[in-house]
Order: sequence, then C-alpha cells, then structure tokens
Amino acid sequence: MKIQKFGGTSVGSAQRIKEVVKLISKNDSSIVVLSAMAGTTNALIEIADYFARGNRESAAAMIGKLYTKYMAHIDELYSTEKMKEQTRAFITDKIFNVLLSYKKSDFTPQMAKEIVSLGEIMSTNMVANYCNEQGLHAVLLNAFDFMRIDQNQEPDINHLRQNLLPLLEKNANTKLFITQGFICLNHENKVDNLQRGGSDYTASLIGAAIKADVIEIWTDIDGMHNNDPRYVEGTQPVHHLHFEEAAELAYFGAKILHPTCVLPAKAAGIPVKVLNTMEPEAEGTLIDNIFDPGQIKAIAAKDNITTVKIVSTRMLLQTGFLRKVFEIFETYHTPIDVVTTSEVGISMSIDKIDQLANIVNELKQYGTVVVDQDMCIICVVGDLRSKNIGFESAITNALRDIPIRMISFGGSEHNISFLISLKDKKAALKALSQELFN
Ligand code: ADP
Ligand code: ASP
Ligand code: MG
Repeated sequence: MKIQKFGGTSVGSAQRIKEVVKLISKNDSSIVVLSAMAGTTNALIEIADYFARGNRESAAAMIGKLYTKYMAHIDELYSTEKMKEQTRAFITDKIFNVLLSYKKSDFTPQMAKEIVSLGEIMSTNMVANYCNEQGLHAVLLNAFDFMRIDQNQEPDINHLRQNLLPLLEKNANTKLFITQGFICLNHENKVDNLQRGGSDYTASLIGAAIKADVIEIWTDIDGMHNNDPRYVEGTQPVHHLHFEEAAELAYFGAKILHPTCVLPAKAAGIPVKVLNTMEPEAEGTLIDNIFDPGQIKAIAAKDNITTVKIVSTRMLLQTGFLRKVFEIFETYHTPIDVVTTSEVGISMSIDKIDQLANIVNELKQYGTVVVDQDMCIICVVGDLRSKNIGFESAITNALRDIPIRMISFGGSEHNISFLISLKDKKAALKALSQELFN
C-alpha cells in the first residue's frame, strides 16, 4: 500500500483536483492524504481572527466570499447535477452554516482550531465525491477517528495504529482511501492540528503506522531543490537524499516538507518521494537510508530565530554549568536549536520566544546575558564527514562578506549551521549556491 499526499496548490482548483485524481494510483492500494485547497487555511485563520476580535461583520463578509468560491469550484468540478447537489448540501450545511454559527457564541481559542480544521474536511469530501463520480470507489476516512496528539503535542502512534488498522480491515475490498492531513484530536478529544504544513506529517505518520511501501509527497515543484527557490534563482532538484539530510533540511526551513515529517518515515525505514503534480513525469526527490558520499546536497534557512548568549567567568573550570543553563530552557519548554560554547560563555538559538523574558531573568543569576532577535539559521547539508576536507572552507569562503554570529559543526556529519542576521539571509543563500553548486 502507498501513501499519496497532495498539498494545497495540488488541489487548489477544480482543474487541479481533476489532474490529481488522474495521479491516484490505479494499481496499488493507496491512502490519499489531502491538504485544504490553497488559500483556504489562511482564509479560515483570518475568519477566526475576526471572530476573536469581535469583528463579526468582517468575519461574515469573509465567509461569504469563501462560500462563493466553493460554490464555483463545485460547479466546475462535477459533471452530474446529482453530485453537485450532494456536495453543495454538505459544504453549505456542515461547513458554512457551522462557520456562521460562531457569530452567536463567545469566541474561544478552541473555536479557532475547529474553524481551521474545516479546510481539510471540505477538500477531502470534494475529492472523494469526485472520485466516486468518476467510478473510482473511494472510502473517506475521518482523521479524527485515528489521529491524536498527547499532552506534549506529540502524535500518539499507538492510538493511530490501533484505530486506523481496523478501519482498513473493515474495508478490505477497497483500494482507495482518502483522509484529511493536518487535523487531529488532542488528549482531551478536542479538535486540534499538527501545525501549519502538517499534512506532510500526517502522511508520514500514517505511512509508518501501516508500514506503507512508499510515502509520496505531491506538491507544486519537482522535488526538494538544492536551495530555497523563493530566494535564489536557478535552484536544481536534488534527486536523492538520505533521511538524515532531508530531516535536517526540513527542520532548518525547507518549506517543502513539514519540519518533522521525515522522522516517522525514517524510523520505519519507508522511502519518501517528493513529486510534482504539475509535472508528474519529473524524477523528483527520493529520500531513503542510502547515503551518497562526498556530496554537498542542499542549503536551507530558518527564520525568526533569536540568539541568547550568556557570558560568565564562573563557567571557567566548572562542572555542571551547561546543565544549569539548559535546565532553565527546559523549565520554560523552550527547545534550543544551535549551541556553541567557549570557556567563558554559551550561545544558543531558539525560535520560540514566548518565555524569553523569564529565561533571561533566570540566566542573569549566572552571568551577563545578550539577546539578538531577527536572526536566521543557514544550514548546509551533505557529506561533511571529517575525512572530506575542503567543504567547510568553501562554505565559510562563500560567507566571507557576511557577519556571522555563530557557527555549529560536528553535531552531525551532515550539517553545518550558521547564525546570521535575517537581513543577510538572501545574500548568504545566493553566495552559497554560487560557491557550492556553480
Ligand atoms: P504544499 O502545499 O504542496 O504542501 P508547500 O508550499 O508547503 O507545498 O511547499 C512547496 C514550496 O516550498 C515550493 O513551492 C517552494 O516555494 C518552497 N520551498 C522552500 N524550500 C524549498 C526547497 N529546498 N525545495 C523545493 N521547494 C522549496
Ligand atoms: N492546510 C494546512 C496549512 O495550510 C496544512 C497543510 O497544508 O499541510 O498549513
Ligand atoms: Mg506544505
């Protein structure tokens, strides 16, 4: 069985949905994981924001606009009046009437999560109806029946396996299942989600849970490129990546994959393919556990980074200093990405800053604290084992004109990371492409 995940642009119009359905595997069984149609999640977030601010008129106006769009999509997508009517009824009653009903209540953050979940519920319903109209028998699975996160926002893999496998067995004669990416329940059985871009994560989690043969991530570009195409011209697809390399790139900002989506596939040893719905014959990127020696693969950048530096002469020749510092971050549930140390200080980068004031306050008991905001992490990924001499100097040479705040190397054999100011990001990405790939 394979997993086929189609992103927002891939199902972004009636025409795109028709193209996507042609790509659904006709031979193997597959579970198709869908995002909301492009723009829908953003629109739903905006609607929720209007409600949260008590601006019901703007919310209603936005709901009206979205409704008109969906009615046009339905009109264009189906050929039979019966299917148009059936889908219109669902989208009107179960989605837009629900959206409008929030006008009456006092708005809570939980309601925002419920609103945001509606995008994937619409797209899966529409695509399943289209498949069935085309004579492809599709069973729609409700992600709320098996996708759940625990108190720490971590996916509950046992719950997924225990609840999804019986659903598949119950429909043993079915070859095509369709389900929602991104959305889930939480430990209180309330509607929640896997964070923006989380449909990739759903696909990988399901793939690992059912031991799929392959997880296909279908998107709007011909695979993972060697640099961020939004900032650098002339980037090229990377045809093969090791899980470790893809995980680093996704975590350090390659938007094409959700930051943690490679991990379940890696743990289960299931290959991931990144493919282009607009150009299905293109090779794309294969991600598996085979490592290509002697190659630099790609560059990525992660924005909205803050660096925290603590300098203390008391650190000299002491034991336990690092632990004390890291414990403060742990207490405030703030993950550290990059760390560099010297005899008298530690620099750390974080991207979650809601507890920054508390952290800085506590760190001050150990030394002088300096905070820099608006930073970014530039990450170069490939075979950086110590016997491969020369890559590090080429990388630092490329960045010779850019002020560097931190350099981290040696934590993994696949990654070298630099902390620079966000305003230098584009120049750094371009310079690295020029030096490493041209
Ligand atoms: P989807 O809606 O299919 O999930 P996304 O918009 O989340 O698609 O991801 C695809 C986009 O990621 C591309 O259009 C591209 O702009 C961006 N992107 C960022 N870094 C990379 C990269 N290294 N390779 C390819 N695409 C990238
Ligand atoms: N629809 C969600 C988002 O826009 C999830 C996804 O597309 O992966 O973030
Ligand atoms: Mg995405």
